[in-house]
Amino acid sequence: MFGRAPKKSDNTRYYEILGVSKNAAQDDLKKAYKKAAIKNHPDKGGDPEKFKELAQAYEVLSDPEKREIYDQYGEDALKEGMGGGGGGHDPFDIFSSFFGGGGGPFGGGSSRGRRQRRGEDVVHPLKVSLEDLYSGTSKKLSLSRNALCSKCSGKGSKSGASMKCAGCQGTGVKVSIRHLGPSMIQQMQHACNECKGTGETINDKDRCPQCKGEKVVQEKKVLEVIVEKGMQNGQKITFPGEADEAPDTVTGDIVFVLQQKEHPKFKRKAEDLFVEHTLSLTEALCGFQYVLTHLDGRQLLIKSNPGEVIKPDSYKAINDEGMPLYQRPFMKGNLYIHFTVDFPESLSLDQVKALEAVLPPKPSSQLTDMELDECEETTLNDVNMEEESRRKQQQAQQEAYDEDDDMPGGAQRVQCAQQ
Ligand SMILES: [Zn+2]
Ligand SMILES: [Zn+2]
Repeated sequence: MFGRAPKKSDNTRYYEILGVSKNAAQDDLKKAYKKAAIKNHPDKGGDPEKFKELAQAYEVLSDPEKREIYDQYGEDALKEGMGGGGGGHDPFDIFSSFFGGGGGPFGGGSSRGRRQRRGEDVVHPLKVSLEDLYSGTSKKLSLSRNALCSKCSGKGSKSGASMKCAGCQGTGVKVSIRHLGPSMIQQMQHACNECKGTGETINDKDRCPQCKGEKVVQEKKVLEVIVEKGMQNGQKITFPGEADEAPDTVTGDIVFVLQQKEHPKFKRKAEDLFVEHTLSLTEALCGFQYVLTHLDGRQLLIKSNPGEVIKPDSYKAINDEGMPLYQRPFMKGNLYIHFTVDFPESLSLDQVKALEAVLPPKPSSQLTDMELDECEETTLNDVNMEEESRRKQQQAQQEAYDEDDDMPGGAQRVQCAQQ
């Protein structure tokens, strides 16, 4: 091989195979491939060579990079670039990528040894309490699902035979035409309703008596979901291959998604737990002790250190009394206690005197009579700051609104109406 540019080779054939012009958009390519591939699918009697060619052409043209190489240098350049073998993937994979896992037009009836499509996963939310996640638990759940009929092994017929569906000529799809205008029509493809997109039907007399030709029967299944210590809200527990069974399909999974219920007392943040506690002023100043029942029922004695004062809105931590770590349950997060202090609403004069006698002295702010004479009297009003700022905000919004509306004629009327 010399360092020369690749020789130009045929660069129109792929477009011809798909029946599109050289400047066809991606969408047109897609549509053209889909239509032709359904028509030429070997499962339905199409030519396997043609089917393979379609996949090859589509694989190249649907990839902008490959398409550019193809446009410039043609087929041979791509073959060289792909290591001489022509590269390419299984044409059946390219085909089935169009119809996803959810049931393609030929999903049911294939008898070839190619890769099977995958059934859908079934997702269930599973409500659990914080206690469940702390201590671990198991839940038995009874679900009903489709299982392959045991009598006909999922064939649907006694003889194992099936016939081409008359409604779709065995293609599994029906095409309907919609007129969008005098010279415009839209073609729409959808799975055949008579055969549910399988392309085949079963003779009435040949129908399996157990599943009535449906190939599957309803089955009750009990699953035991193990909720492990330390699992998180939103964590998934998967039962592989336990979802609905269907012929020629790899059965999907049943997936439980944990949903932690709100706990009246404890809040969880990752591996830590938070709990609220309100102290009286006397407890905050003179000490306290109380019992906290933990998520596993243990009684924790919570008490202050002698002489310690607990300030309002402060936290204390108890190490290793938080949530257990998932799969390392011998390790635990912390338990944080948030303290609120309930102050008395008012004190009697006697109480004030008694307190002043024991509390640290006031800061030295004794004013002289002369200084007092020079001051103005004020009144301290009760106020709820939250409400206050909400009112201020509303007021600002109203003003902005009024300004918006300040057009000749209009604004005045609105203001009048409101007053
Ligand atoms: Zn059956
Ligand atoms: Zn049909």
